[in-house]
Amino acid sequence: MKILVINAGSSSLKYQLIDIETEDVLAKGQCERIGIDGSQLKHTPAGKEAVIIKKPMKDHADAIAMVLAALTDAEHGVIRDMSEISAVGHRVVHGGEFFSKSVVIDDNVKKAIDQCVPLAPLHNPPNLIGIDACEKAMPGVPQVAVFDTAFHQTMPQVAYMYALPYRYYEEDKIRRYGFHGTSHKYVAAKTAKLLGKDVKDLKMITCHLGNGSSITAIDGGKSVATSMGFTPLAGTVMGTRSGSLDPAIIKYIADKEHMDLAQIDNVLNKESGVLGISGVSSDFRDLEAAANEGNKRAELALDMFVYSVRKYIGMYLMQLGGVDAIVFTAGIGENTASMRADILEGTEFLGIEMDLEKNKTIRGVDAVISTENSKVKVMVVPTNEELMIARETAELVK
Ligand code: AMP
Repeated sequence: MKILVINAGSSSLKYQLIDIETEDVLAKGQCERIGIDGSQLKHTPAGKEAVIIKKPMKDHADAIAMVLAALTDAEHGVIRDMSEISAVGHRVVHGGEFFSKSVVIDDNVKKAIDQCVPLAPLHNPPNLIGIDACEKAMPGVPQVAVFDTAFHQTMPQVAYMYALPYRYYEEDKIRRYGFHGTSHKYVAAKTAKLLGKDVKDLKMITCHLGNGSSITAIDGGKSVATSMGFTPLAGTVMGTRSGSLDPAIIKYIADKEHMDLAQIDNVLNKESGVLGISGVSSDFRDLEAAANEGNKRAELALDMFVYSVRKYIGMYLMQLGGVDAIVFTAGIGENTASMRADILEGTEFLGIEMDLEKNKTIRGVDAVISTENSKVKVMVVPTNEELMIARETAELVK
């Protein structure tokens, strides 16, 4: 069974064609600048060089048509025709309180995704456009929605409520939703498999540390707390996002700099985080290089990132009453040994003993990086959201 995984953004569309029996990626690629001059498709068949096809794409329907043409192309295609695609799995960012798991898409599902647009105004509209485009291009092929928020719907109310007047929850659905759910769920399942245990018997903290970062407490395979909130702006310090801060700062900046809320939103999302502190970069490789050359603000940015991640790990250790595993994933979690070491420094009193030599050598592969005697296993588990979307899609259409 072959599953096409689609992640549609406002002017881009990423895809992977996955053979679900072998879990091999047959081809992957990305359409860029959809609806803008200079649109192009980068298509990479497994084991071959990428091909770049430059052609105007006025909308997502054009983009999907180009993806299907590339997948079935005589030269760089990987399937004979479209009938080989059994189903399409769509990444959908926000499912609100409607969806606690993935679903086969019908008109009611589309209506509910549309009702969540105010909760994710930048993401849900292109996700819906991607779904419509696939429905038109592949009539009769089942389409599945896999939500970033769904995994966190198991959080207890005490963990997802904000201490605002209750009507804001009742009328406007203002609450913590959490994001990166597909990644946290994948990593939790993989961790259990690597440890040879059932996920139901494990407590763990998964740290998705990338450009956007979130930490999740998982008890028996269920998310019970997560650091992102009503939006992905909350939680740890991130690449360009502030993470959680005193909400009174917003009015203070607005008054002082005569800024409107949209301008402040931009500062908090795009100009803050480690970029804002360092003034150097949002990329941790640049920050490490700058800090090594003595740049004090780059060093402070890295320290603040570490401090904020430690805060959540500490909070969740308390909430879970101890853990079996702490797991690192995503760009920084998988690759940056110094961040992993700093985050867990001095935690031996909690039964956490990292093997610092082993930690240094691990990059982008599944590995246990704690000592033999460590009560808590410390792991690196590369995330794979596309594979998770393909698995959930296959499961629903089987
Ligand atoms: P992501 O959002 O998961 O793609 O993660 C992006 C972040 O991961 C950036 O801050 C990068 O500096 C970091 N990162 C990605 N790849 C590497 C790598 N090979 N070595 C060190 N850091 C990396």
